[in-house]
Amino acid sequence: MNIKEAIGGFRAWQKTPDYHWGKGSSAHQCVNCGHEYTGNYCPMCGQKDGAKRITWVSLWRNFMMIWGMDSHSLPVSLWQLIWRPGYFIGDYLDGHRQVSYPPVKMLFIVAVIYAILVQTFRMLNGEAPPLDESVSVLEPVFRWMGDNPAWTALGMTFVMTLPTSILFHFSPRHAHHSLPEGFFIQVFMSSLMLMSIFVMKLISGWLMLLVPLLYYVCYRQLFGYGMWSTLWRVALCFATWLGITLFFFFTMVPLFDTAMQKNGEALETVLTLAVILVMLVIGLAVVLGFGYWISKKTCKSRES
Ligand SMILES: [Zn+2]
Repeated sequence: MNIKEAIGGFRAWQKTPDYHWGKGSSAHQCVNCGHEYTGNYCPMCGQKDGAKRITWVSLWRNFMMIWGMDSHSLPVSLWQLIWRPGYFIGDYLDGHRQVSYPPVKMLFIVAVIYAILVQTFRMLNGEAPPLDESVSVLEPVFRWMGDNPAWTALGMTFVMTLPTSILFHFSPRHAHHSLPEGFFIQVFMSSLMLMSIFVMKLISGWLMLLVPLLYYVCYRQLFGYGMWSTLWRVALCFATWLGITLFFFFTMVPLFDTAMQKNGEALETVLTLAVILVMLVIGLAVVLGFGYWISKKTCKSRES
């Protein structure tokens, strides 16, 4: 098999993977209740087919249940999320809930593993954990973020929900996705981000600049736009993200400052922030509104 065929096979798998459903096509009897049926689970009592002897695998699975990992599919889900993120999320949105481990649970497990790995690498490298020489007034915020990777990843990606739902409202695939669906997309993205950011940090912190590329790949698979159409939309999403995030941190700095010093500049600070906020909102409304308008126009020309 040459490289071209291999890539072709990989791309075909990305679009329609073999999820291995329905192995049991012949009728068999339930070990638990004796009901005769075809399929993987007994429709009467819900027991899985093929449970006769207790094996090492059953023991392992029972122990994994303590961590809420009772279904097999967490590693499979993560594998799918890494190699075909957009298609995988799309499958989930389309109603194939069984293809994925519950996304929110998945994120929190990934975050725990992430925190453990980060700690381990710090210890191996003999690095002291960052200690509190209050270099920045944001130190407590950053420390909280370091301690809570799941919530931090969620907070960071949730900012993408609004621009995504506006700019991809008329997309060829998964058009008109609702805000809750948008949240689920970002929950998946958070898991993906934590995994890739860990790898990026291992190699070089500069690789974090590749995060928009990840979003590009994912959104292209998920929403089905072409290269340029995906590119400018993802760029606008990140511009929005940057605007909101910067505003958040620039709000925090003066707020912490005034809280610490209690000098008379509080009113001035609040007024400045209010002006910046208004400008930000107007700017975002113009940019996103323009993106929405173009999307709607191109959608109509696509249909006609
Ligand atoms: Zn049964």
